[in-house]
Amino acid sequence: MRDFNPGQGGGQGPSAPAYVRRPEGPAGFDYLIVGAGFAGSVLAERLAVGLGKRVLLIDRRPHIGGNAYDHHNDDGLLIHRYGPHIFHTNSQQVADYLSRFTKWRPYEHRVLASVDAQFVPIPINRTTVNRLYGLDLDEAGVATFLKDRAEPVAEVRTSEDVVVGAVGRELYEKFFRGYTRKQWGLDPSELDKTVTARVPTRTNDDDRYFGDSFQNMPLHGYTRMFENMLDHPNITIMLNADFRDVAREVQYRNLIYSGPVDEYFDHRFGKLPYRSLTFRHETVDQEWFQAVGVVNYPGEDVPYTRITEYKHLTGQTHPKTSLTYEFPSAVGDPYYPVPKPENAELYRKYQELADATPNVHFVGRLATYRYYNMDQVVGQALALFARIAKAEGTTAEAARALSGVGAPAPAAAPMAVAPKA
Ligand code: FAD
Ligand code: UDP
Repeated sequence: MRDFNPGQGGGQGPSAPAYVRRPEGPAGFDYLIVGAGFAGSVLAERLAVGLGKRVLLIDRRPHIGGNAYDHHNDDGLLIHRYGPHIFHTNSQQVADYLSRFTKWRPYEHRVLASVDAQFVPIPINRTTVNRLYGLDLDEAGVATFLKDRAEPVAEVRTSEDVVVGAVGRELYEKFFRGYTRKQWGLDPSELDKTVTARVPTRTNDDDRYFGDSFQNMPLHGYTRMFENMLDHPNITIMLNADFRDVAREVQYRNLIYSGPVDEYFDHRFGKLPYRSLTFRHETVDQEWFQAVGVVNYPGEDVPYTRITEYKHLTGQTHPKTSLTYEFPSAVGDPYYPVPKPENAELYRKYQELADATPNVHFVGRLATYRYYNMDQVVGQALALFARIAKAEGTTAEAARALSGVGAPAPAAAPMAVAPKA
């Protein structure tokens, strides 16, 4: 029986800490893992299956899956509680690893932006330019069009520089300035270039949001994939359980922590800024709402940034359709690290502390303060597992074999700034 998903069916689950499913044994757990998102769950699976460790995996939320958690709502539509999660990767290692726990549904994500009273493709491509300007340019024509408008930028540092240097100020203002100001509460000139560099510019007709070689959705959803990953006798799961409370009650030898790193150290150097969102989920009594999975609203006249319609992502057939509106917010659950120089500086101080803390590993988007996609977090977790296995005396080759993949796990750092295409 799958007894660790009280959030299934759309409910919030019990509010009291859930159970310990299996006894920890006289010597306690080998590992306490904080956070049952991708980072914590991959490590729980690897340590339990690969090294035979006894693992206690906890989360303060009432469900596994972290921000990738999905569930069927009251109308039976599969939705993502924390906004749209589209899986894409160029890492065969990551795809192979996750494929052990799920079958896939081919899905190439397409996004339209509401600009000048029409819906046009974003990333900006040939169609976008021709529609907005009433032109019929070929690829070379679009390249020249954009080149003529692009502003020379001596050193590309900020998220404004990236875009005005590629497409000029007018398109920057139409597609990026308002969206970014809403999403981050900051002007693009205040944010690292890596933020808007996630969105490429194209001169051809490719209207896919991502250019990755592997673009698929878990066939039965993310939560089912996590359930399969964690269904092992060495893994105990405790939900509605905060680290501080559990740490007092349970014996463990090593800690893996995927919560916010500044919180772990009681905000000793001050709070690291994380951007939050409020999600408005609604179901409308019509079969379809919009032409594609996500429509972006860069205008500052509406407070939300985008609307997601899940049926495009999931392939579900249903007479109704479910949507999520995303409203950015300074307060609430931490969802995004905020990439800018002074935050990187503050994070470095926490990183030094983290590196100097024995028997504790920090991993994942919040604990390493990196704007990572799901696949990057999986890659980071597999790399950490390989290091742990090696430190335990397992040879590098055996560690790679234990992580269940042929090639060495990728270093996390270069992936941090990888653009989408
Ligand atoms: P999380 O999923 O945040 O898991 C951390 C867990 O730790 C949480 O469940 C939290 O409750 C728990 N926790 C924290 N502190 C404690 C504590 N003290 N005690 C107990 N538990 C604790 N990536 C993509 O690849 N494609 C997408 O389309 C995509 N869309 C996204 C859309 C949104 C709106 C957001 C916010 C993110 C999106 N991402 C996407 C990124 C993706 O969510 C992350 O890369 C991934 O989920 C991070 O996994 P994680 O395990 O590091 O963190
Ligand atoms: N962005 C934008 N307009 C868009 C899409 C993206 O200005 O139509 C900027 C914005 O700053 C956003 C960033 O590019 O935060 C990265 O976009 P992405 O879609 O990758 O954001 P995520 O899915 O991670 O929220």
